[in-house]
Amino acid sequence: MPTKTGPSRWYDLAVWARRRRGHLMEKPLCEMCEAAGRTERATIVDHCTPHRGNWELFLYGRLQSLCGPCHSGRKQQIECTGVDHGDRGGDYSCAVDVHGWPLDRERHPTWVEARKRAEKERERAEKAKSRLQNPEIEPFGPRQDGD
Ligand SMILES: [Zn+2]
Repeated sequence: MPTKTGPSRWYDLAVWARRRRGHLMEKPLCEMCEAAGRTERATIVDHCTPHRGNWELFLYGRLQSLCGPCHSGRKQQIECTGVDHGDRGGDYSCAVDVHGWPLDRERHPTWVEARKRAEKERERAEKAKSRLQNPEIEPFGPRQDGD
């Protein structure tokens, strides 16, 4: 029974050692480095989704091979927001300012989305303006006074 030992000891269990070894044999390179075009030997097998003491996740959750620097970088990222962005490659910082806005304005998805939205908003405003300046394409047509 796994519940006899706490989550901190799960990594000592033979079942984990087997899983870890198997994963490293299958994926011997750091997956984050590989995604960034680097070749680095993986030394750590990390849970894609933090198991947070969940035995099922610990044992059956998806794993990824990481090198030391990528692993500690990812852990810091998780700690700073409580959100794990590992699945998205983690190529942006998720540090936030006092208002909760991400500091990485270039790459953070929040800003990327915000830029897209602002672009759409601008297009809409342009269209509205040209409609005002050109009454002939005014949707209801020029007003006609009958007799
Ligand atoms: Zn790496």
